[in-house]
Amino acid sequence: MADKDEMLQIDLCDGQVRVMLCETTDTVQRCADIHGCTPVCTAALGRLITGTAMLGIMMKGEKENVTVTIKGDGPMGTLVAVADHGKIRACADDPKVELPLREDGKLDVGSAVGHHGRLIVIKDLNLKENYIGQSELVSGEIAMDFAQYFTVSEQQPSLVALGVLVSGETVLKAGGLLIQPLPGCPDEIIDQLELRSPMFADISREMTFAPIEQLCEDWFRGMNPKILERTPVSYTCSCSRERMERALISLGRKELTALIEEDQGAELVCHFCHNKYFFTTEQLCELLKEAQRE
Ligand SMILES: [Zn+2]
Repeated sequence: MADKDEMLQIDLCDGQVRVMLCETTDTVQRCADIHGCTPVCTAALGRLITGTAMLGIMMKGEKENVTVTIKGDGPMGTLVAVADHGKIRACADDPKVELPLREDGKLDVGSAVGHHGRLIVIKDLNLKENYIGQSELVSGEIAMDFAQYFTVSEQQPSLVALGVLVSGETVLKAGGLLIQPLPGCPDEIIDQLELRSPMFADISREMTFAPIEQLCEDWFRGMNPKILERTPVSYTCSCSRERMERALISLGRKELTALIEEDQGAELVCHFCHNKYFFTTEQLCELLKEAQRE
């Protein structure tokens, strides 16, 4: 089945508010399948993927990409997602964490990620230095943590909703919404959006009733919503044998020599897609020659 996930870039009130609304169901399912995630980890990584996709699609340059890392004090350890425009990949130290449901019956994403820590955004803009922004975690529930990042680090007040509806190993629906009033946006419009915010709080459940285009019409009625752009979103890894060769070369002479002396070759596994790359001792010797040239 072809991926049908996509991001809608929407304009409200004749350019006074920027909105991103996306479905990421297939993308999150792929992530859960690759990593064998438990439901709470599917929800955590799924929310991270969805938030990172929004940042990825904001990037304008062709070779630019964005990495979002969440370093929380929860049992999942560090979570990482990389977005190359609409192509996303993600992983976590431990994607198999199991936790009891919260009292309200929801998955306890905050406890899996941790309630304390940092959200770090690195934008590779193809310049000499990367842009790095970060903020403290608010709750570990991820949507509020992204909102905090936009407000504190990018000085852009934002309303963020991220949702993943999971049943066992199946992702029923996943998606997200970002609302950013642009400079000069009148208070009445901001008040209107805040009044409506309970409508999008449980976004993945809303998505089981209607496609995102319909939700956009319903939620922003009277605010002249206009879809400006649609971008496909998918779980896509960019690893390759060349990249793995470069990773081996960057280990340095000492490490490479040690691998060659063991004479068992080397197997590298991509963290994001679990593709395996095998190098024979002979091939490692070739890489050692290159390492010596550098
Ligand atoms: Zn890969």
